[in-house]
Amino acid sequence: MKKVRIAHLYPKLLNIYGDNGNIIALSKRCEWRGVNVVVDEIGIGDAISEHDIYFMGGGQDLQQIEVAFELQKHKNFLQDERDRGAVFLGICGGYQLFGHYYKPHEGETLKGISLLDAYTIAGQNRYIGNVTVETDIVEPHTLVGFENHSGLTYLEGDTKPLGKVNTGNGNNGEDKTEGARYKNVFGTYLHGSFLPKNPHFADYMLELALGTSLEKLEDDVEFKTHDSLICKKY
Ligand code: GLN
Repeated sequence: MKKVRIAHLYPKLLNIYGDNGNIIALSKRCEWRGVNVVVDEIGIGDAISEHDIYFMGGGQDLQQIEVAFELQKHKNFLQDERDRGAVFLGICGGYQLFGHYYKPHEGETLKGISLLDAYTIAGQNRYIGNVTVETDIVEPHTLVGFENHSGLTYLEGDTKPLGKVNTGNGNNGEDKTEGARYKNVFGTYLHGSFLPKNPHFADYMLELALGTSLEKLEDDVEFKTHDSLICKKY
């Protein structure tokens, strides 16, 4: 039987706007196919062992400080996991910590774990609203979600965006990019939560993690929700 091991990083601190819904979506889409799924919650002080998928949700600056400090202990291991081909998904605050650093409005700059060649600086505005992204990573070529961040993220080197922003602000409200990918590491500002509204992206992650294609599921309800949000601002 196929098996997927998911590490849910710091859910007690980084789960703003129901980002745990991404774990539910991945788990259910495995169960519905008879794929065995194990979800390990990783908390402050816990060791991290090898997993197929690593997920980290979003959070306020305060929670990010505690997680950023803890993550430094696992930086080399998680970079090795990236280079081995493990799949990562970071949402908003989690995404920011996948980069080199996050400089909040006040206080110290938070070190990231450099899974992505990216950096984030808190901006003057808070970007809030629905986002529609045009992507060539999955089909259909749209991703939808909800953003709420003041951080402005800039990509460098071989780290490329998930796609182009059609509606909303995305990474920084300037270069029309949203999210990031390097190897099998993905980051996005899309809350919502992200994967239940983008089942095609959830399956893409699962297929990368399993190294095989998966049977299609009947996703009428999911795509009805997805399509209802395309180009919707609020
Ligand atoms: N605190 C970060 C910001 O404001 C991330 C917010 C979030 O995860 N929604 O940009």
